Amino acid sequence: MSGIDLTGNRYGRLVVISEAERVGENRRWVCKCDCGNEVTVYGSSLKRGRTKSCGCLRKERTTKADERDLSGRRFGKLLVIEKLSKNEYGRIIWKCMCDCGSETEVAYYNLVSEKTTSCGCVRVGHLNEALETQRVDGVVVPKLKQKVRVDSSTGHKGVSKTKNGKYVARLMVKGKDKYLGTHETLELAIKARKRGEELYYKPYIEALEGNND
Ligand SMILES: [Zn+2]
Ligand SMILES: [Zn+2]
Repeated sequence: MSGIDLTGNRYGRLVVISEAERVGENRRWVCKCDCGNEVTVYGSSLKRGRTKSCGCLRKERTTKADERDLSGRRFGKLLVIEKLSKNEYGRIIWKCMCDCGSETEVAYYNLVSEKTTSCGCVRVGHLNEALETQRVDGVVVPKLKQKVRVDSSTGHKGVSKTKNGKYVARLMVKGKDKYLGTHETLELAIKARKRGEELYYKPYIEALEGNND
């Protein structure tokens, strides 16, 4: 155990004022930081250079990072133009130009973390895409509900007349033509097609609508 008195020594921003109560064998010192705060620090931390301020140094470093110049840098579709100001949370806001031509203002953190990579146009694009591809097990569900082209030979979708006067029912599942049989009458073929819809489409539609709840 050293009996060295650290009083008056400077360690970074800290100046030792007096000795504080020990914790076990460990000597502690009350220090005054250049910023005005007082802190109690282990002598070993001071001597090893592990503690150089009341904590304000680290805070400043993060603030500095926040103030790094981003102008000219690109994040996704955004090209950073200029620093605007701090917003209400003390965050730096950057003016950006989106590839779509819109200007937008983005916080430093949202840029560097790539949380924001467009003026919002990308997100809108994704939404439209999502609507087009509401897929359940590879089946695009909204398309099933759309009015399908009515088969010209019978006036019923998915039912067509063969050369020998019979009726073939079919439907498309996952881009594949499902054969639902050849039937003697139009009515039977329509029934077969309806059964096919129940069998093949309903689970998908229900699964999707269930997901949307
Ligand atoms: Zn300080
Ligand atoms: Zn945009």
